Amino acid sequence: MDAATRSRRGLILINTGAGKGKTTAALGTAMRALGCGMKVLMLQFIKGSWHYGELDAAEAFGGRFVLKQMGRGFVKVGGAETDAEDVRLVEAAWAEGREAILSGAWDVVILDEINYAISYKMLDPAAVAETLRAKPEMVHVILTGRNAHPLLVELADTVTEMREVKHAYQKGILAQRGIEY
Ligand code: ATP
Ligand code: MG
Repeated sequence: MDAATRSRRGLILINTGAGKGKTTAALGTAMRALGCGMKVLMLQFIKGSWHYGELDAAEAFGGRFVLKQMGRGFVKVGGAETDAEDVRLVEAAWAEGREAILSGAWDVVILDEINYAISYKMLDPAAVAETLRAKPEMVHVILTGRNAHPLLVELADTVTEMREVKHAYQKGILAQRGIEY
């Protein structure tokens, strides 16, 4: 084994914070990994109702880039208010994400918006941490969404907080195709 091979290892990355760029940075990393011949799986924990451009872009890579919307685009938040169907969808997304990570079949697994599912108390951060600790050495995992849980921040290798300086939305400019979706 040469030095370059020995120094290769899978990382845990988190894109969090209130500024725009968490999901799109993960997609940028996916693009880079695909260019290196790697296989990428992106599971979107909350999204489901909108048709995002990345869904069609992923098709261009055939089976090397698989992107799945596992939610229905919005969740009702908070204790008794939380809809049982949303919890069920999050649990299904997590079951698939966990299996994908542990299988070693993907070089990069992106758990998009998983931080929201955790902060809405729909998913146990300890269960996610346990899987991340047990992941195959070479698998990279990216977790996105605001309010990343401290337990996962602690475990991660690279954590980036997007800070909002300004956003077009504040001027009343609605989400733009190709930029927001
Ligand atoms: P993106 O997918 O554009 O990288 P994101 O993943 O950082 O955004 P999310 O919290 O997932 O942000 O929000 C999803 C949607 O909200 C996207 O359409 C995104 O452009 C938009 N958005 C993100 N940050 C802001 C903000 N600070 N103000 C208003 N809208 C935002
Ligand atoms: Mg996002």
